[in-house]
Amino acid sequence: MTVDFHCHNFPRAIAPRALAALSANTGWRLNPAGDGTLENHLDHLDLHGVDKAVMMPVATKPSQFGVILDTAVAIRDGRMGERAARKIEPFVSVHPADPDWSRHLTETVRAGIRGLKVHPYYQNFSLSDPAVWPFFAKIAELGLIVQCHCGYDIGYPGRFDACAPSDIVKLMKNVRGLKFVAAHLGGCSGHPPRATDELAECGAYIDTSALHINQHKDEEMRLLRSWPRERILFGTDFPWAHYPETLRWVRSVRVGEDLPDLLGGNACRLLGIRL
Ligand SMILES: [Zn+2]
Repeated sequence: MTVDFHCHNFPRAIAPRALAALSANTGWRLNPAGDGTLENHLDHLDLHGVDKAVMMPVATKPSQFGVILDTAVAIRDGRMGERAARKIEPFVSVHPADPDWSRHLTETVRAGIRGLKVHPYYQNFSLSDPAVWPFFAKIAELGLIVQCHCGYDIGYPGRFDACAPSDIVKLMKNVRGLKFVAAHLGGCSGHPPRATDELAECGAYIDTSALHINQHKDEEMRLLRSWPRERILFGTDFPWAHYPETLRWVRSVRVGEDLPDLLGGNACRLLGIRL
């Protein structure tokens, strides 16, 4: 069983524009594997034998929370089709600068949504800033999972702050009990080798999403090979990677009995679901 713990899709009306803008932001070095819509994402999941996908919206403004939560609930309840309800595990996104973040986190739990995505560059905050720790403490208290973009972002060249491995460690040492998923192999990209070592001790999860051009670098290979088995989650960042590419990379490096946990077992345990 395979669960993609890191992927994106967009409402049909804005998908072409969103993908074009995001690609342009990378100087067209990153091009999408699909058209960005939910339907196309579901086709890719079916085609490549991926059972479930944890969908990660990003609220770039606090006001987007309502629409994001409504969409998540609509998917979960089958109003976007049976296939979406079965295959998509929707997360929400709460902006740390949202004056109502506490209420919105509580609403997320009440709606039965299991987690949220944050992105320090798109949301303009730093994980190591004590001002955001109450936000994360509430997430921990409510038992929500938080997935966070970590490390270098190809759309923000020159920025290495805010979500470096050292920033994550600072957050996790000050906010206990967080179920924290550090995307992109713990944010190793753009940082010195072994920068992520302390993260494993803090109990952070990492996901396997990495840019194609980074997949065979020494540090990415080392992390994929050696990260504690129960804390690593298969994730692609689709549509920014092709499923066969990431599946083949993961299966070529992490073999044997670790693989079922990595590909889906850990994700199901973290989400509290059975497939
Ligand atoms: Zn992503």
